[in-house]
Amino acid sequence: MDVLSEAIKWFGLGVSVVPVRSRSKVAAVRWTEYTRRLPTPEELIRWFARPLFRNYGVICGKRHGQPGYLAVLDFDNLDAGLDWLLSMRTQTYTVATARGLHAYFITDEPAQTTNFAGGNLKGNGYVMAAGSVHPSGAIYTVLTDAPIANIRSIREVLPDLPEPEPVKREPRPPAILSKPEPQDAWESAEWQRPNLIETIRARFDLRDFLMGARKTDASGRWWLARCPLHDDHNPSMWIDAERQLCGCYAGCNGGRPMDIVNLAAALWNCSNSEAVERLRQML
Ligand SMILES: [Zn+2]
Repeated sequence: MDVLSEAIKWFGLGVSVVPVRSRSKVAAVRWTEYTRRLPTPEELIRWFARPLFRNYGVICGKRHGQPGYLAVLDFDNLDAGLDWLLSMRTQTYTVATARGLHAYFITDEPAQTTNFAGGNLKGNGYVMAAGSVHPSGAIYTVLTDAPIANIRSIREVLPDLPEPEPVKREPRPPAILSKPEPQDAWESAEWQRPNLIETIRARFDLRDFLMGARKTDASGRWWLARCPLHDDHNPSMWIDAERQLCGCYAGCNGGRPMDIVNLAAALWNCSNSEAVERLRQML
């Protein structure tokens, strides 16, 4: 599937997409910005033309420049999802997920993220788009290639949807007085040297270099793999997929945590700057 043309289709629907790191569900950009605006065509080309990213997320919620809201019914179980799909009169765009399915709708009324028996309704945040690879290796695959159905409210297709919890009034966070955060890596082209390391961190996943890494917790943050730096018979390399750090329980690299550059340098037995150069050639 050509990610760029898919991304452009979403753009045409007034729906934002964001790149997601490989073998994860973690966005490679500050995705909340794209709840407020669509990515520019230049951003889409930078993210998806080569393609730098194969995984991408579709942002739910208010559409940009067009009426209505994107809402996705996320069924945890494929059988239950298919039963529901067959019982529904309206056809809509659906995607098989690792275990269940996503049914996409454009609603007149805003949808609030709500759990229901067997899944949840996503009214905000993002869902992994068709063509993306789930951390388990499963590929999100289009089941029904129909246009997204336009409905008044999700209750039209899921009458049992529980009432959303009343919105808790969070105290307003204090105004941020410090300097604005440094520019996002993707705000500058990847060939610009000063942000090269940021770009490398965004583009590669440690697990690309640690074959057979296995998830050890439900959140998907912590993984274990055989350490490639010593003759490892037990998986001794821990991986924090969220922060993209890893380390060896047996004490490789002096027991210090490594990021992608440190790991590549250790694997290739070269300096960090040589590793950056070799990783750049792989971008
Ligand atoms: Zn080791």
